[in-house]
Amino acid sequence: ICKELQKKGKLTLVGDGRCDSPGHSAKYLTYSLMDMGTSKIVTSSIIQVTEVGASQRMEKEGFIRSMDSVIEKLDVAVVATDQHPQIATLMKTDKYKVEHQFDIWHFVKSVRKKLTAKAKVRGCEGLGMWIKSITLHIWWCAVKCEGNSQKMKEMWLSMQHHIANNHSWDTAEIFHCCDRGELSNNDKEEIVWLEVDSPAHDALRSVLNDKRLLKDLAHLTQFCHTGMLEVYHALLTKHCPKRQHFGYKGMVARTQLAAMDFNDNVGRAQAVHKKKGKLRLKSVCLKQDKRRHVQPILKAKTLDHAHRMMKSLAESEGKHEGKMEREIDRDGLVRRLL
Ligand SMILES: [Zn+2]
Repeated sequence: ICKELQKKGKLTLVGDGRCDSPGHSAKYLTYSLMDMGTSKIVTSSIIQVTEVGASQRMEKEGFIRSMDSVIEKLDVAVVATDQHPQIATLMKTDKYKVEHQFDIWHFVKSVRKKLTAKAKVRGCEGLGMWIKSITLHIWWCAVKCEGNSQKMKEMWLSMQHHIANNHSWDTAEIFHCCDRGELSNNDKEEIVWLEVDSPAHDALRSVLNDKRLLKDLAHLTQFCHTGMLEVYHALLTKHCPKRQHFGYKGMVARTQLAAMDFNDNVGRAQAVHKKKGKLRLKSVCLKQDKRRHVQPILKAKTLDHAHRMMKSLAESEGKHEGKMEREIDRDGLVRRLL
């Protein structure tokens, strides 16, 4: 993977940790870095709680070990993580000299939580209807700000005008009016706008102008998100089930297998219907909004990584390779052979 990525020049990596059990009882934390361009896992480090003393320190240690293992080999321009305070502090030092961005998904989640709490206060109920639009607005700001943190901030703050049915203003330097097209009169009547100086509008303004949040916006301008890392973590759970206990070596081996499995299969093309020749689709119900969505069906997964491993194992052991290949075909699952 490293050789492949070295050719690509400047990279954006996304990182996150996954604990083997929820809360503070975790024994291991697996920290992984993924290349955002190709969605391939670049490195994974496994931290045992006994190495760092407390589970709260595992994430930062995992981040450091993962970064240390790639920083000399790859040209890392940006690394994106959640808003973990210890990692944010570390990235302000010149240890890595890499731009630090926040994962937009984690950021949106924390804003949604703040808004939901505000909307529960008496008199601020009107804000509740706007939460979905406001969180979508954050994604939109990050996509459209062109890497400019001032523009990002102004776009973010513009929500206070839009929500009050005011679509142009002269209080900003770069971003002076909504650019989502003219609203029809029908829309304007149907939308429940928030009145300026009403409790709900004040509550929104207090969230928009939150000092820490305004500072954090500068770390969203590259539109980095760790969604594919979540997919990898789900696969990791299949290889290292959380209910089961594994020794350190077992954890390392299983994590390596998961990474190879993931890298071989990520970015698979969409499957084609054999007879009709059309791209295949499926309908799924998503947890977030409990609605049905259309998603592509991908081509079947391969076990190439396992075949490669078995082959080199057979070669190094000098055994008959055909026999080993048959074993893996029959079982399908590599981990049963380990
Ligand atoms: Zn507007």
